Amino acid sequence: MTDPKSSRYAATLPELEAVVKQLGEPAFRAKQIHQGLWQQRKPLETLSTINVQLRDELAALLPLDLVEILERTTLGGMTAKWLWQVAGGDQVETVLMQSADRATVCVSSQAGCAMGCTFCATGQAGFERHLRASEIVEQVLRAQHTCQQRVSNVVFMGMGEPLANLDEVEPALTSLQDGLGISARKIVVSTVGVVPGMDRLRAFPLPVTLAVSLHAPDDALREQLVPLNRRYPIADILDAARGYVLAKGRRVTFEYACISGINDHVHLADALANKLLGFPGGAHVNLIPLNATTGFTGRPPSPERIATFAERLTDRGINATVRRNRGTDIDAACGQLRMRTSAPVEMRESKA
Ligand code: SF4
Repeated sequence: MTDPKSSRYAATLPELEAVVKQLGEPAFRAKQIHQGLWQQRKPLETLSTINVQLRDELAALLPLDLVEILERTTLGGMTAKWLWQVAGGDQVETVLMQSADRATVCVSSQAGCAMGCTFCATGQAGFERHLRASEIVEQVLRAQHTCQQRVSNVVFMGMGEPLANLDEVEPALTSLQDGLGISARKIVVSTVGVVPGMDRLRAFPLPVTLAVSLHAPDDALREQLVPLNRRYPIADILDAARGYVLAKGRRVTFEYACISGINDHVHLADALANKLLGFPGGAHVNLIPLNATTGFTGRPPSPERIATFAERLTDRGINATVRRNRGTDIDAACGQLRMRTSAPVEMRESKA
């Protein structure tokens, strides 16, 4: 297993200086390398400020954390997804989504997930391990290396529950802002409602945007979709979300995966509106058509039905948008690519 301190994006500037010194190079080289890797976001192999021999020696001493297993792109190259292998053999996923005005990377924070949300491919497969901060940040940089546009946004909506891994997610957030210059406001941390984690994130100095995956307006229905609701019911989650808004002055968004015949009834839109009315700063609901998985029988509602649900929320004073599922054809929902490649070898996708 790779020593966490010796991987490329785990190395701090002083650690880089020590490595450079060990290779008989002057200390200023470390600054050049650090600047190239972080501010300029270049792969080590393309840094023109150092010679090929030094690049090779550094590559051996500071290996990458992620080994690419698979890369798939679609939508004219605007959406790309990777499956990586991390130390210990676990697999995680990353998605890059580009549009005219932004490039967003969706990162995984854990290999697998212990939350067990019934509709989610990652939840169905169970928990493997927490990712280290360097493994999280490397996902952003490896995606950046493939795209011309500067990555401007990062969302923690891939595999795993980020607030269950705050010991690593917090330093990753700091690196994204201080190392890569991505404003905390352009980083979204999404949680299924880990209340102690929400409280801890409130005390964390960076004002990242918090997204709460609600998926249902009442505890009985939510417990069927999100088992964690038994420990942290909706009222506690909304209290913690209110606390976050008041402390950070940042709007909280609520994610709602729409499942046909389960949580897309108009009366549930009314119940959701009642719960969120008067939320500080105004609640914003993101409606997301379910990404169907083989381990869950639910299916996404028709676009018309989701539009009706959205209208109902809007009519009751709740800001609602429908999120387009980008990359469904490349399994760009968390855990889906991994589920596919975990299938017998003859079913593996070929590398793009
Ligand atoms: S939806 Fe998120 S929190 Fe729930 S099981 Fe999937 S990855 Fe984990």
